[in-house]
Amino acid sequence: MSNLRHILRPELDRIIHFVCNIAGISPKYFKQEIKIRLISSGKTESYFDEDRNIAYINFNEAGWEGFNPVFGRFWQYLVFHEIGHYFESFVARDPQFIRLFGDVDAFYDEKGVHKNLPKRLDERFVSRYAAKHPSEDWAETFATALIIRYFNDEKELKAMNQKKYYKKILYVYKALKTIKEVR
Ligand SMILES: [Zn+2]
Repeated sequence: MSNLRHILRPELDRIIHFVCNIAGISPKYFKQEIKIRLISSGKTESYFDEDRNIAYINFNEAGWEGFNPVFGRFWQYLVFHEIGHYFESFVARDPQFIRLFGDVDAFYDEKGVHKNLPKRLDERFVSRYAAKHPSEDWAETFATALIIRYFNDEKELKAMNQKKYYKKILYVYKALKTIKEVR
Protein backbone atom coordinates (compact mmCIF):
# COMPACT_ATOMS: atom_id res chain seq x y z
CA MET A 1 0.00 0.00 0.00
CA SER A 2 2.77 2.45 0.85
CA ASN A 3 4.24 1.71 -2.60
CA LEU A 4 0.90 2.36 -4.22
CA ARG A 5 0.62 5.64 -2.37
CA HIS A 6 4.09 6.55 -3.55
CA ILE A 7 3.03 5.93 -7.15
CA LEU A 8 -0.29 7.74 -6.91
CA ARG A 9 0.88 10.83 -4.99
CA PRO A 10 2.25 12.65 -8.06
CA GLU A 11 -1.04 12.12 -9.89
CA LEU A 12 -2.99 13.29 -6.86
CA ASP A 13 -0.88 16.42 -7.00
CA ARG A 14 -1.68 16.82 -10.71
CA ILE A 15 -5.40 16.54 -9.91
CA ILE A 16 -5.09 19.25 -7.25
CA HIS A 17 -3.25 21.56 -9.66
CA PHE A 18 -5.80 20.83 -12.37
CA VAL A 19 -8.77 21.75 -10.13
CA CYS A 20 -7.04 24.83 -8.72
CA ASN A 21 -6.19 26.03 -12.20
CA ILE A 22 -9.85 25.86 -13.25
CA ALA A 23 -11.04 27.44 -10.01
CA GLY A 24 -8.38 30.15 -10.15
CA ILE A 25 -7.08 29.44 -6.66
CA SER A 26 -3.53 28.58 -5.65
CA PRO A 27 -2.64 24.95 -4.85
CA LYS A 28 -0.93 26.27 -1.74
CA TYR A 29 -4.23 27.70 -0.50
CA PHE A 30 -6.07 24.52 -1.45
CA LYS A 31 -3.62 22.34 0.47
CA GLN A 32 -4.02 24.51 3.56
CA GLU A 33 -7.78 24.11 3.32
CA ILE A 34 -8.18 20.44 2.61
CA LYS A 35 -6.09 17.31 3.17
CA ILE A 36 -6.47 14.27 0.96
CA ARG A 37 -5.56 10.90 2.47
CA LEU A 38 -5.17 7.78 0.38
CA ILE A 39 -6.42 4.65 2.13
CA SER A 40 -7.10 1.04 1.23
CA SER A 41 -9.86 -0.56 3.24
CA GLY A 42 -12.48 -3.23 2.90
CA LYS A 43 -14.68 -1.56 5.50
CA THR A 44 -14.50 2.21 5.24
CA GLU A 45 -15.81 4.05 2.22
CA SER A 46 -14.26 7.14 0.76
CA TYR A 47 -15.67 10.11 2.62
CA PHE A 48 -15.21 13.75 3.34
CA ASP A 49 -14.81 14.75 6.98
CA GLU A 50 -16.28 18.23 6.76
CA ASP A 51 -15.39 19.20 10.33
CA ARG A 52 -11.69 18.70 9.68
CA ASN A 53 -11.70 19.13 5.89
CA ILE A 54 -10.05 15.80 5.25
CA ALA A 55 -10.98 13.68 2.22
CA TYR A 56 -10.33 9.96 2.58
CA ILE A 57 -9.98 8.13 -0.72
CA ASN A 58 -10.42 4.37 -0.54
CA PHE A 59 -9.17 2.60 -3.67
CA ASN A 60 -11.16 -0.52 -2.91
CA GLU A 61 -14.24 1.47 -3.65
CA ALA A 62 -13.34 2.44 -7.24
CA GLY A 63 -15.63 0.56 -9.55
CA TRP A 64 -18.65 0.67 -7.28
CA GLU A 65 -21.65 0.35 -9.57
CA GLY A 66 -23.57 3.19 -7.95
CA PHE A 67 -21.14 5.74 -9.38
CA ASN A 68 -21.16 7.17 -12.89
CA PRO A 69 -21.13 4.09 -15.14
CA VAL A 70 -18.50 5.61 -17.44
CA PHE A 71 -16.10 7.07 -14.91
CA GLY A 72 -16.89 5.28 -11.64
CA ARG A 73 -14.16 2.73 -12.14
CA PHE A 74 -11.39 5.31 -11.92
CA TRP A 75 -9.83 6.09 -8.52
CA GLN A 76 -9.37 9.65 -9.80
CA TYR A 77 -13.15 9.90 -9.94
CA LEU A 78 -13.28 9.32 -6.18
CA VAL A 79 -10.78 12.11 -5.64
CA PHE A 80 -12.86 14.52 -7.71
CA HIS A 81 -16.02 13.39 -5.90
CA GLU A 82 -14.57 14.14 -2.45
CA ILE A 83 -13.06 17.44 -3.60
CA GLY A 84 -16.57 18.25 -4.83
CA HIS A 85 -17.85 17.85 -1.27
CA TYR A 86 -15.26 20.39 -0.14
CA PHE A 87 -16.42 22.95 -2.73
CA GLU A 88 -20.08 22.42 -1.87
CA SER A 89 -20.06 24.97 0.95
CA PHE A 90 -18.96 27.67 -1.52
CA VAL A 91 -21.92 27.21 -3.84
CA ALA A 92 -24.79 25.50 -1.99
CA ARG A 93 -26.62 28.77 -1.15
CA ASP A 94 -26.66 29.94 -4.75
CA PRO A 95 -30.31 30.00 -5.94
CA GLN A 96 -29.30 28.36 -9.21
CA PHE A 97 -27.55 25.57 -7.30
CA ILE A 98 -30.72 24.99 -5.28
CA ARG A 99 -32.83 24.91 -8.43
CA LEU A 100 -30.54 22.35 -10.07
CA PHE A 101 -29.44 20.15 -7.16
CA GLY A 102 -31.80 20.91 -4.29
CA ASP A 103 -31.24 21.67 -0.62
CA VAL A 104 -28.02 20.12 0.76
CA ASP A 105 -29.49 20.34 4.28
CA ALA A 106 -32.25 17.91 3.36
CA PHE A 107 -32.39 14.76 5.49
CA TYR A 108 -29.58 12.35 4.63
CA ASP A 109 -30.17 8.68 5.32
CA GLU A 110 -26.52 7.75 5.97
CA LYS A 111 -27.24 4.13 6.83
CA GLY A 112 -29.32 3.49 3.74
CA VAL A 113 -26.88 5.00 1.27
CA HIS A 114 -25.92 1.74 -0.39
CA LYS A 115 -29.22 -0.01 0.18
CA ASN A 116 -31.91 2.02 -1.46
CA LEU A 117 -30.23 2.98 -4.70
CA PRO A 118 -32.62 3.53 -7.60
CA LYS A 119 -32.60 0.45 -9.82
CA ARG A 120 -32.21 2.41 -13.02
CA LEU A 121 -30.26 5.44 -14.04
CA ASP A 122 -32.53 8.49 -13.99
CA GLU A 123 -31.73 10.87 -16.86
CA ARG A 124 -31.58 13.82 -14.55
CA PHE A 125 -28.56 12.35 -12.73
CA VAL A 126 -25.05 11.36 -13.79
CA SER A 127 -25.25 8.22 -11.65
CA ARG A 128 -27.60 6.23 -9.47
CA TYR A 129 -25.72 7.36 -6.37
CA ALA A 130 -26.33 10.99 -7.38
CA ALA A 131 -30.07 10.44 -6.98
CA LYS A 132 -29.63 9.77 -3.24
CA HIS A 133 -29.21 13.32 -1.99
CA PRO A 134 -28.46 16.86 -3.29
CA SER A 135 -24.94 16.66 -1.76
CA GLU A 136 -24.15 13.45 -3.61
CA ASP A 137 -25.75 14.81 -6.77
CA TRP A 138 -23.40 17.79 -6.59
CA ALA A 139 -20.32 15.65 -5.79
CA GLU A 140 -21.10 13.12 -8.54
CA THR A 141 -21.80 15.84 -11.10
CA PHE A 142 -18.64 17.67 -10.03
CA ALA A 143 -16.59 14.48 -10.42
CA THR A 144 -18.09 13.75 -13.82
CA ALA A 145 -17.62 17.31 -15.10
CA LEU A 146 -14.00 17.46 -13.96
CA ILE A 147 -12.83 13.99 -14.93
CA ILE A 148 -14.04 14.53 -18.50
CA ARG A 149 -11.75 17.50 -18.80
CA TYR A 150 -8.96 15.87 -16.82
CA PHE A 151 -8.85 13.02 -19.33
CA ASN A 152 -9.67 15.39 -22.18
CA ASP A 153 -12.65 13.27 -23.13
CA GLU A 154 -14.34 15.64 -25.56
CA LYS A 155 -16.31 12.84 -27.16
CA GLU A 156 -17.91 11.94 -23.84
CA LEU A 157 -18.68 15.59 -23.13
CA LYS A 158 -20.38 15.95 -26.51
CA ALA A 159 -22.46 12.83 -25.90
CA MET A 160 -23.64 14.37 -22.62
CA ASN A 161 -25.16 17.50 -24.09
CA GLN A 162 -28.24 15.47 -25.00
CA LYS A 163 -28.79 14.49 -21.38
CA LYS A 164 -31.03 16.19 -18.89
CA TYR A 165 -28.18 16.52 -16.40
CA TYR A 166 -26.02 18.46 -18.88
CA LYS A 167 -27.01 21.83 -17.43
CA LYS A 168 -25.72 20.64 -14.07
CA ILE A 169 -22.37 19.79 -15.68
CA LEU A 170 -22.19 23.31 -17.14
CA TYR A 171 -23.10 24.73 -13.75
CA VAL A 172 -20.06 23.02 -12.20
CA TYR A 173 -17.71 24.75 -14.66
CA LYS A 174 -19.39 28.10 -14.07
CA ALA A 175 -19.55 27.75 -10.27
CA LEU A 176 -15.88 26.80 -9.96
CA LYS A 177 -14.90 30.14 -11.44
CA THR A 178 -16.76 32.01 -8.69
CA ILE A 179 -14.74 30.38 -5.91
CA LYS A 180 -12.48 32.75 -4.06
CA GLU A 181 -9.73 32.28 -1.54
CA VAL A 182 -11.67 33.36 1.49
CA ARG A 183 -9.24 33.03 4.36
ZN1 LIG B 1 -20.10 11.69 -1.51
